[in-house]
Amino acid sequence: MDPKAREARRYTRQVSNLSGSNMRARITAVMVGRISRLGLGNHPGLLLRPAYEGYCDYAFGGRAGPSVAVEHLFHEFAHAAEFGPEVFRQRASIYGFHFNTPKEWVFDRYCADPKTMQATERELRTFAYQYHLMRTAGYRLDAEAFAAESARAMAFMHDWYWVPGEGDTARKAYCVEQILAHIESTRSADALGRLAAWLDVTARRLERLKRVRPRDGKYLVQNAPRYKADGTEYVIH
Ligand SMILES: [Zn+2]
Repeated sequence: MDPKAREARRYTRQVSNLSGSNMRARITAVMVGRISRLGLGNHPGLLLRPAYEGYCDYAFGGRAGPSVAVEHLFHEFAHAAEFGPEVFRQRASIYGFHFNTPKEWVFDRYCADPKTMQATERELRTFAYQYHLMRTAGYRLDAEAFAAESARAMAFMHDWYWVPGEGDTARKAYCVEQILAHIESTRSADALGRLAAWLDVTARRLERLKRVRPRDGKYLVQNAPRYKADGTEYVIH
């Protein structure tokens, strides 16, 4: 494995089996540690669901397919930073992020029907935020290795064929170039500031909902546990 690929893999901590509570506690501890390095360890608007995918119920998940890793959690943070607090109302709900992907009814299901590469453009900007947030949390990332690794995943986007370039190799090269340009033009302090501002709005929303409670003996937890930024468990009811 060449050094860049090794560097790209180094921060990827894949845990395919999260059923053991030891494993769950370990990965959660790693996440909580990284969050505290961002200076957000006591933020009331930062909720975690490590074993879930994406963003739901105002909580950030750490899963992508079979793998649970800190980088997936930071990718969700980066989406919040990329959206920014101004669009919280349009983009966040108890069901998750709204990506506004156009859909078309095809045979028996809705299919994404892209007319532009907007979705991929958003991902490319999101990767730049992820890079800066991970660096702030203490990860030593190489920008080029990170961009190359991130661009590989873009081939699975529904609007891939709208990305400029003849063939997959040229499209990937375009994505790498764009991610590096976004990394260059984004300031770390802005990335963290936008995430923190998103969490501030979230905290106000949660305060109004008054549904988040510390977990105590009264509540059965049927699903994978949810954590606050300091690692304590909470329930929603
Ligand atoms: Zn994404």
